[in-house]
Amino acid sequence: MDDIQIPILDLRLQYQTIQTEIQEAIDRVLNSGRFILGEEVANFEQAVANYLGVQHAIAVNSGTDALIISLRCLGIGKGDEVITTPFSFFATAEAISRVGAMPIFVDVEPETFNIDAQKIVEKITSRTRAILPVHLFGNPAPMGQILDIARAYNLKVIEDCAQSFGATYESDCSTCQQGCSETRRWHLQGKPTGSMGDLGAFSFFPTKNLGAYGDGGLIATHDSELAAVAKQLRVHGETKKYHNEMLGYNSRLDALQAAILRVKLNYIDQWNEKRRNIAQFYQQQLQTIEELILPDFTKGHVFHQYTIRILEGKRDRVQASLSDQGIGTMVYYPVPQSELPVYQGQYETFPISNVLAQQVLSLPIWPELSQQAMEKVCDGLATALKEASV
Ligand SMILES: *Cc1c(COP(=O)(O)O)cnc(C)c1O
Repeated sequence: MDDIQIPILDLRLQYQTIQTEIQEAIDRVLNSGRFILGEEVANFEQAVANYLGVQHAIAVNSGTDALIISLRCLGIGKGDEVITTPFSFFATAEAISRVGAMPIFVDVEPETFNIDAQKIVEKITSRTRAILPVHLFGNPAPMGQILDIARAYNLKVIEDCAQSFGATYESDCSTCQQGCSETRRWHLQGKPTGSMGDLGAFSFFPTKNLGAYGDGGLIATHDSELAAVAKQLRVHGETKKYHNEMLGYNSRLDALQAAILRVKLNYIDQWNEKRRNIAQFYQQQLQTIEELILPDFTKGHVFHQYTIRILEGKRDRVQASLSDQGIGTMVYYPVPQSELPVYQGQYETFPISNVLAQQVLSLPIWPELSQQAMEKVCDGLATALKEASV
């Protein structure tokens, strides 16, 4: 809409802050004459592996491909079941279905919007091969408990980190109710998302916390054998040119995107810190409003989205009123994955995901958002709630 003064996201301001470095990077690639994979991509992969503290990072075409290739690396396909959350972007379940496996949904925790680990075990069958948690909106899923379950039932874990680049698992062991083993808690403390499971799948879609200027994705793993298969799958299943050994994909990252992402990686921690500061401001300003439930605020959360719950059936009216005031918001997600037309009739309803789909509203949160804009969002929200009451 033209009259939106505070958009949900504006990527132009960030570009202006790094314009010189980006143009140098682009120029370097154009002059190199190498545009797919190559040294630029290898350098970026190494930088991400260092950042995450993993042995291997394999850059691919998108976050969706990162999920699909991760599932293929584990040999998951027809007849297999993969446990995941109903409350996510469709790429999560789509990847599972795409490889021929069956998504098995487990409802979320109302406070964190992440998969409820307490409900996982009851969904495990003889066909279950993996758990695929999503670190939704940048908030790490309960990995301690998930990894304990995976170990006990001999399952693999793929982390969907599309929204959580830079997030860390910070379980407060003295107060947390997660019930994972002491050694595991100690071991995971402070670990980046994507470094805890067997594989971590990242997206560099432009709107993500670490966004390219086009599509991009990456697989992180400690396992050299899985890394080798991922590398093979991204180039048509070949290890040697024209000697293809399996059905793979054309899923390579562009050198241009890698060069751009390499620049942006230097800023990701400071950008994530700004997101956290904005979230903190919202928490303070909005905490006294009774019709709202504010998001979980954990130490390692990187606030890809700042998502509130609006009670009493007012969400849509509040969103319309904010829009009239020039404030952009989004509903992530209006329909749980399990209820999408593509799966119609196959799944039971998930009560918490259903309620969230009716109540959630994501407010503008991006590193360059000004103090004045944040204040306007809070004032606008108060006005919108009053308007929605009459
Ligand atoms: C964005 C996203 C994806 C897919 O990433 P693409 O790069 O767009 O393919 C997967 N899962 C989640 C949770 C996402 O938000």
